[in-house]
Amino acid sequence: MLLLDRYSLGVGDRFAHQAKAQLRACILAAEKGIAISPVWNKSFREHGIVGSQPQSVRDAADAAVRALGWNKPYHVDADHINLDTAGGFLSSSDFFTIDVASAIGQPAPEAEVRAFLKRRPELSGDMEVEGLATPIRFTPDGVARTVAQYLAAVIQAGRIYRHIENRKGAGTFITEVSMDETDAPQTPPELLIILAAIADYGIPIQTIAPKFTGRFNKGVDFVGDPEGFAREFSADLAVIAHAVKRYSLPGNLKLSVHSGSDKFSIYGAIRDAVARTGAGVHVKTAGTTWLEEIIGLAEAGGEGLAMSKEVYAKAYHDRDALCAPYAAVIDIDPARLPAPEDVQSWNSARMTAALRHDQTCKDYNPHMRQLLHVGYKVAAKMGARYLDALAACEESISRNVTDNLLHRHILRVFPSGR
Ligand SMILES: [Zn+2]
Repeated sequence: MLLLDRYSLGVGDRFAHQAKAQLRACILAAEKGIAISPVWNKSFREHGIVGSQPQSVRDAADAAVRALGWNKPYHVDADHINLDTAGGFLSSSDFFTIDVASAIGQPAPEAEVRAFLKRRPELSGDMEVEGLATPIRFTPDGVARTVAQYLAAVIQAGRIYRHIENRKGAGTFITEVSMDETDAPQTPPELLIILAAIADYGIPIQTIAPKFTGRFNKGVDFVGDPEGFAREFSADLAVIAHAVKRYSLPGNLKLSVHSGSDKFSIYGAIRDAVARTGAGVHVKTAGTTWLEEIIGLAEAGGEGLAMSKEVYAKAYHDRDALCAPYAAVIDIDPARLPAPEDVQSWNSARMTAALRHDQTCKDYNPHMRQLLHVGYKVAAKMGARYLDALAACEESISRNVTDNLLHRHILRVFPSGR
């Protein structure tokens, strides 16, 4: 069976130009004793907005791997796919993130609910879970509520999994199930019930992306209680280790943190928890690289700086439409967005200071950063003109892409093996 390594990093690239710069961050990490597998991911939604094909992600990844002589594992993730959209990713991906958020709360067939509860008599009363200070207390009502909320989603995940398996062959790809794009977080006891059901429906899941408590806004830091997150994350790890043993799930099953880029205030908790327990973790960081492209353009000055301002100005004027698909994962105060006319007079240092994710910098502007995060459609519409600018400013862009992934992400979130 194709297995995902203990530590893996989801890297995304809107325009398929930064795979080498991203891979270089993994190479530099390896030199520092941190072994991580890069996983290039792009969702159906992103492909639709950019107008790209799934094969382009595979091509860019393969080319980077060849160019830099990477001889360790890497993968290509069909991110957030479902039954309707999996087809386009079958030949190019070896990692599938099965998104069943839309099935959460849908009714499951009565017979399936009864059969599940009958198969799992242990989901009642107290359950001791190693690593949890107190046993999980399952009540019949609570379990029934969780089953009503999530069983249909698991059944749907099973359907999508088998659709892929029938076409690609068992064991030839990595399976993730994602439930993050929903309003209510899954508690650790709910996660245990979900994993029991996932085992029942025969899904060889290697990563699961729950919705954690707190806000995971795009491109900016975690908003919520970092200590609460640390407790929840550790409890999830305990539940996963328990489920692996009890339900014979793949031994490398681990958490996947979506919208995981730039969540600096919780990286310490993740690093400490996986180091302490020996668990693995997958962190998806797609959007942060696109922001580094804009920063690299701005840093280059001249045409590049002008291009970064043009992208901002267009995003500013089009902000309602650009923000709509991401409403649940951004918090932008329009009053805090600088007027494009003002930005026009900024130099490289001022523009990069506003956008670079350095919370100690007085000019850092998270509102502007989030708007640009969802504003890649503007660059997509520019077509060749934008891509030419990427080529012209390659040095400053790739330096920022590598540096951001290595120093602000990898070294903070993954423990060193040494
Ligand atoms: Zn996600």
